[in-house]
Amino acid sequence: MLNYFLSMPDQLEMKIDEWKSLAPDIVRIDSLDSYSGDTVYAISLSQFSNNDKPAHYFAQPHAHEPAATAGMINVIEQMVTGKDLFGNASSLDVEHVLQNCVLTFNPIGNAQGRSKAPVTYWDGTQYTNDQLWCWMRGEDPENPGHMWERFNIWDDRKLNAPNPVGIVYEQIDEHRWVEPNRTQLSTYFKLFFKMDAQYHYLSWLDLHQTEYVDSEFNCEILIGVEGSQSDLTHEHNVDWGQSIVDAWTAAGYTPYPQPHAVPYTGEQANYFKQTWGELRKRIHIISTEVKNNAQDLSPERQLRAQSLAIEKSIEIFLSQIKG
Ligand SMILES: [Zn+2]
Repeated sequence: MLNYFLSMPDQLEMKIDEWKSLAPDIVRIDSLDSYSGDTVYAISLSQFSNNDKPAHYFAQPHAHEPAATAGMINVIEQMVTGKDLFGNASSLDVEHVLQNCVLTFNPIGNAQGRSKAPVTYWDGTQYTNDQLWCWMRGEDPENPGHMWERFNIWDDRKLNAPNPVGIVYEQIDEHRWVEPNRTQLSTYFKLFFKMDAQYHYLSWLDLHQTEYVDSEFNCEILIGVEGSQSDLTHEHNVDWGQSIVDAWTAAGYTPYPQPHAVPYTGEQANYFKQTWGELRKRIHIISTEVKNNAQDLSPERQLRAQSLAIEKSIEIFLSQIKG
């Protein structure tokens, strides 16, 4: 266990208690319970006042991508204490950030799935990618050793589902399961809409991980699918994404050189537009991907890549709202 890599629900809850007692004036906690009874948290940070401040959302939907969680916890820690989880002073002017905006973090979008994960981080020493993917979507009962199908939503009465169910899925009622970022029925989305009614977010960084099999890259920024964005939003998202890419390069990562569209077509692209299309018309939304489950990118480096993307996003957001 790595004491700086915090990704499980009980680890997050411990930090929430700590943050609330250290800085009750700047930390606000909202939450929703999922059908399974697991709690999903939104942690908002600001010097709250009567004036509405511009607000930025950060979230992660996928239970098998724990460095996204650990990176968020590392940034919240900086906002509360001025130091990161390694004891180093934050690169951000914390006072200035909290004075000028609201930051909301949902560090574990699918708490049910995450609590069933076999490890707190995936470092490539204990599980092959095929094994990780069987944890993610479940092992296909008809094709042992291989992961099951990808569904936005599925009903366990109608399909020969894996047992146990893959951790990427969240149960939303007695029989139905969803991939959280692919339908607004998930707790991940319900919590977003609850928070958005209060803070009216202008930007959303969604944090992810992927395995980069046979790739020269170990991180990238995704900016929607082709044709899914208005030109104005698109241009801003490219600039925002590029500054994260540049920060990663400067920190020794090998990112895909430009922010680029999600390479989805057909059904995959349609889900994306249906679930995210309207939101993308009014909120700047981009995603990180950071290499998961490989021995050439340690858990610490995974965490730091996500943390850096968040820190850079906060900088960009402040410069944007200052005009
Ligand atoms: Zn993901």
